[in-house]
Amino acid sequence: MKVRATAKIKISTEVEIIKTLKVYHKALQFCVDQAWKRKIKNNIKLHPFVYKKLKSKGLQSQLCIACIKQACGIVKRAKTKPIIQRASIRYNFPRSVSMKNNLLSISTIKGRIKIPFSIPDCYRKYLNWNIRESLLRIDKRGRCFFLFTFSKDVNAKSSNFHKGVLGIDIGVNNIAVTSDRQFFGKNIKQLRIKKEKLVSELQAKGTKSAKRKLIRLSGRWKLFMTWTNHNISKKIVSKSKGIIVMEDLTHIRRNAKYIKWVHKWAFRQLQSFIEYKALRKGIRIVYVNPYKTSKECSVCHNELTSRHSGFFQCLVCRHSLNSDLNASYNIAQRYKRTMCLGAVTHPNVSNNEAETSF
Ligand SMILES: [Zn+2]
Repeated sequence: MKVRATAKIKISTEVEIIKTLKVYHKALQFCVDQAWKRKIKNNIKLHPFVYKKLKSKGLQSQLCIACIKQACGIVKRAKTKPIIQRASIRYNFPRSVSMKNNLLSISTIKGRIKIPFSIPDCYRKYLNWNIRESLLRIDKRGRCFFLFTFSKDVNAKSSNFHKGVLGIDIGVNNIAVTSDRQFFGKNIKQLRIKKEKLVSELQAKGTKSAKRKLIRLSGRWKLFMTWTNHNISKKIVSKSKGIIVMEDLTHIRRNAKYIKWVHKWAFRQLQSFIEYKALRKGIRIVYVNPYKTSKECSVCHNELTSRHSGFFQCLVCRHSLNSDLNASYNIAQRYKRTMCLGAVTHPNVSNNEAETSF
């Protein structure tokens, strides 16, 4: 299985780079127009019609090929004649762009140039991965960036298989509780109640400034959720060694009782963060059916139980503990039981996390 990570690195805006981007932008529009006019969607077929013209503009042959390919891709997806607003150049690594001794060597219309380049510490761990893609991009404010996509093969199935199984319960009182007795996000419930109170007050007011404040508040709350989810997932993954078992939330959504709180916190986002962070370490993720994980006793598996203010007690064996912890035990056990019965749940892991920021 392949895992990917993208590093966005700012580079200095040299005149040659800006000029190359401009020429490339025009060349791309030219290729798109030609492909559209001639109804060509294949880059090899388009090549003889445009290549010489692109070369005459000063583009290096690698960039010409990239441009033709990109144009065909755009025409393939387009329903009306495409107009390119901003072009980004896909560089072939290491042919048309390379890194050496903190210098980035890029081919431009004025030949190859070398610019100083430093990789931030947070991306250094990816340097021994393979580079799959490198993209030169300019943003609205005219700042230039290089986007490197790193990839690595991980063998999540064979490594660590069946060693330590970690069940994770997600819930209202605690955002996440793991079966090795870790509790995360205890104070979130209070914050959420406070926020909801403020929202209802602002909604009741209904003035223009109240509406503006509401928008700001919702934006800030979203950022806070993402930040918290990143923190929790980082802590969970850093301590786990074997398999991580979580509840399949698509089942939960069908259950009317849970619908209310599932929408109040980005739980699916938390799961996806745990997923991609785990995959990078070669840890496998398994999803189980959450049916009655919080009602069942984790010792005798009876359903004759009582739950009161976050506390769980079994009415049969008198076992008592925190109700979220009990659920996380059940989740881990559910996976172990299916393994013993031979009915292996297929891991629902995604390997597409190129868009995920870190
Ligand atoms: Zn019991």
